Amino acid sequence: MAPLKVLICGGGCAGPALAYWLNRCGHHVTVVERFPVLRATGSQIDLRGAAIEAVKRMGLVEAIRGILVDEAGANMVDSQGNVLAQIMANKSGQGAQSFTSEYELMRGDLVRIFYQATKDNVEYIFGKTVEHFEQDDQQVTATFSDGSSDTFDLLVGADGQGSRIRKEILPPGIPDPYFKFKAHVAYWFIPRVEEDDNMMNAYHCPGNRMIMRRSHSPTETQVLCFLWDGSPEVSSVHRASVEKQKEFWSQRFRDAGWQIERFLEGMKTTDNWYCQEVVQVRTDTWSKGRVVLLGDAAYCPSPFTGMGTSAALVGAYVLAGEISQHGDNFSQAFAEYDKILRPFVKELQGVSPFLLKLCMPETWWGIAILHFIFRTLCFFRIPELASRFTKERDGGWQLPNYPALKAAEQ
Ligand SMILES: Cc1cc2nc3c(=O)[nH]c(=O)nc-3n(C[C@H](O)[C@H](O)[C@H](O)COP(=O)(O)OP(=O)(O)OC[C@H]3O[C@@H](n4cnc5c(N)ncnc54)[C@H](O)[C@@H]3O)c2cc1C
Repeated sequence: MAPLKVLICGGGCAGPALAYWLNRCGHHVTVVERFPVLRATGSQIDLRGAAIEAVKRMGLVEAIRGILVDEAGANMVDSQGNVLAQIMANKSGQGAQSFTSEYELMRGDLVRIFYQATKDNVEYIFGKTVEHFEQDDQQVTATFSDGSSDTFDLLVGADGQGSRIRKEILPPGIPDPYFKFKAHVAYWFIPRVEEDDNMMNAYHCPGNRMIMRRSHSPTETQVLCFLWDGSPEVSSVHRASVEKQKEFWSQRFRDAGWQIERFLEGMKTTDNWYCQEVVQVRTDTWSKGRVVLLGDAAYCPSPFTGMGTSAALVGAYVLAGEISQHGDNFSQAFAEYDKILRPFVKELQGVSPFLLKLCMPETWWGIAILHFIFRTLCFFRIPELASRFTKERDGGWQLPNYPALKAAEQ
């Protein structure tokens, strides 16, 4: 197959993972990233199921093992920090992972690993984006934010949940295909103190609120605040300045109890702040002509599933595999990509908003019932047994095999 000239828009996790495979199959790949430098930030993520096999095939699993966060499991705690229920990580290598996966890592560290693995053979351009593009039977012409333009065989939108490439290929008049949970999350890093152990602690407080504390390094602790609120005012906070966002989250959580004073004090000076509405991207349109979507841009499953990065890595593998099978017959390659990946995505996205909301009760009574249920389940070790004898969140979906990718494995 003649080498393709490929443009990938977005240098997060999905874009560089696809660049890795396409480059190894002999194609010429350029990645444009809107951020001025490598965007190696974010909080703790995990890899599960078929994504672990995908990074093994990339030859990167040992590098990933070297950056794992030491998290032994998850506790549900009360306002005094007493442990009410505990679910340890399933490190047996059998069955499904529990809340804490065997592969817990910081998003930024993973982004750096993919960048290091590709930077010598893939062209990265930071601080640049695709302003618009046109396509015909022969090529796609991209015009960039610096006014330059170039032609490519293929354009990949790996530009995340708010993808602009996706907006351009959706049928006209279709709104952003977001499935909203009516939930919001903010996270930030604070200095770690001696009491911050290697367990993730989750604390519930009335008003549909939950706080998590987990520590990923000897010096840093992550604070994650979750809020269930479907009002348009809360949705609009994510478009406000960071100062206004912090003000909003401080006000909504300052009476929460537990360690909130320390957490909010740390919020004032944190370098690492992020908040967003929790959404899934659900669309039937993953491609149009020579343009295809990958990762969160096409099928963001939301942080509630813990599968966003896993989906991106599996998607990159399948897309590269289908391109290797079908050459420049893109309509065939993208149809197969869709056909093979959609059942996997459907499985991941099948989380119940109703059950999730029950995990963030409105009243102290609701919280007491939640605690009772989890204490009982954990007393009988049911979550750990369930992990051992159930399948992964992707339903045990298996990564396909592609001869060209097999030949390109490390
Ligand atoms: C800063 C950041 C922090 C995150 N933190 C978490 C977290 O803590 N927990 C979690 O579960 N998930 C987090 N995510 C999402 C998670 O990384 C993804 O769900 C998953 O890895 C899928 O990766 P992706 O490459 O499809 O999307 P992303 O990782 O979102 O990467 C998309 C990339 O595209 C770039 N981009 C966006 N628009 C354009 C444009 N117009 N032109 C060029 N480039 C563009 C972005 O800057 C980003 O680098 C975060 C994402 C980002 C960008």
